Order: sequence, then C-alpha cells, then structure tokens
Amino acid sequence: MKYALVTGGSRGLGRAVCLKLAEAGIPVIVNYQSNAAAAEDVKAAVEALGGQAELMPFNVGVEAEVEAALAVWQDAHPDDYIAYLVNNAGIRRDNLMFMMPTDDWHAVVQTSLDGFYYVTKRCLPKMMMRRHGGRIVNMASLSGIKGMPGQANYSAAKAALIGATKALAQECAARNVTVNAVAPGFIETDMTKDLPVDELKKLVPMNRFGRPEEVADLVAFLLSDKAAYITGEVISINGGLYT
Ligand code: NAP
Repeated sequence: MKYALVTGGSRGLGRAVCLKLAEAGIPVIVNYQSNAAAAEDVKAAVEALGGQAELMPFNVGVEAEVEAALAVWQDAHPDDYIAYLVNNAGIRRDNLMFMMPTDDWHAVVQTSLDGFYYVTKRCLPKMMMRRHGGRIVNMASLSGIKGMPGQANYSAAKAALIGATKALAQECAARNVTVNAVAPGFIETDMTKDLPVDELKKLVPMNRFGRPEEVADLVAFLLSDKAAYITGEVISINGGLYT
C-alpha cells in the first residue's frame, strides 16, 4: 500500500493537505513536533472523512529522530512504502539580520532545509525501487524566491529548498519520482496570525490572504497521477503578489 507522509501535518497547511489526501483515499502519516492535541484532531478529521491516519511525532531537524521513527514505521509496514512525501514542516524566527540570534538562524534552516534532507533521504530508496515511483512536494515560500526583509534566515532556507528541489528532480526523474516545490505567499495559518493582516493584504493584488485549502488543492494535484510529467518546478500561489 502507498502511504503519504506530511511533515508538520498537525496544523495550518499540513493539516489541510492531510484532509485533502484523505478525500483522495490516500492513507496519511501525520508528523508533528510537539502539539499532540492538534495532531489527534487531524487524525479524527481524516477518519471522519472515511480516511486512514497514523500519527508520527519527530523533530524533522534531528536526523536520529527521523531515522528512528521511520524505521519503526517500516518494520510495522513491511509491505507498504511512503510514495507521497510532503516536506511541509517549517518555522519563522524573523529579525533584521544584524540583530538575529545565531540560534534563530540555525533553527529555521534546520527545520526547513535539514528537515527536508533527513526525511527525503530516508524515504527515497523505497520510492526509487518501486515501479510506481513517488511524489515529493516541498513547501517553499515567496520569501525564498524574492527575499523578504527581516527573514534572511527563512529566505535562505526556502531558496536552498528550491535549489535542492531542482537538483533532486533531475536525479530521480528516470525512476518516476517527481520533485516539485510550492511557494505560497501569505496564507491564513498560525504562522501568520501575528502579522498585520489588514496592512499586508493591501499588498496582495487579490486583497486577501490565501486559505490553507487553496494550497492543499495545489499540493494534491502535484501528488496526483495528473501531474506525472511535472518535475523540478516551483509553483507560486500568492494571489498575484510576486515582486
Ligand atoms: P504553522 O501553522 O505554524 O504549522 C507548522 C507545522 O509544522 C506544525 O504542524 C508544527 O508542529 C510543525 N513543525 C514545526 N517545526 C517542526 C519540526 N521541527 N519537526 C516537525 N514538525 C514541525 O505553519 P504553516 O503556516 O502551516 O506553514 C507550513 C509550511 O508552509 C512551512 O514550511 C512554512 O514555512 C510554509 N509557508 C507558510 C506560509 C504562510 O503564509 N502560512 C507562506 C509560505 C510558506 P506542531 O503542531 O507540533 O508545532
């Protein structure tokens, strides 16, 4: 059986992706770091849609935790593999660069970039062995395309994720594994709830923040058979806010 793993699946965009996968009939593994109540809530919502969900807590930025959790899962699922991987876990620690604590630089890079590396590296061999291949979607950001003041750490991590997406896509294409990135602008989640929404939405040509479900629809498309010939792409979803 083919499973999906959604990192940071307990809240925001990851939660919306888990629900979309449930609608598509794909069993989903919901990763999270610490918010067990939110993850349980996602599991219940997936099951209410008639889907299957398993919880898998680990810190994506700690290789030993990633390895241990996925090894336990594989032992329990000898005939299954993770065919759909959504590298979505991410954090913000905004500050002007000259005032940025070193820990905040590392925490952001560790979550978005190192996390992508540890989880993807662990899942790739099975995807590349199977005749049916796999799908990887990396959650980048507009910030990684254009750079955002106050987000040197986040922009760097997301820009690097885009570079890795393009490189890995070429490594895996012949094995039927596609690798794409999604680059949202401002989306209504916990990550953006401290931002001055009324001021920022004036910058967006559509005059609103996006909804998690809108991003999840795009991710679900990239994970589907319909997107079989799309790889190495970065798809923006930002209401017209580019430069
Ligand atoms: P969110 O609402 O803050 O949710 C973050 C999720 O990531 C939570 O499920 C959290 O788990 C998990 N997480 C954080 N650090 C983790 C770690 N080290 N290991 C495992 N899980 C971890 O964020 P969001 O807005 O949905 O953002 C999701 C992704 O989209 C991020 O990569 C973000 O950079 C990107 N993005 C968001 C926006 C936006 O406007 N919202 C725009 C562009 C890109 P817990 O519940 O356990 O804390």
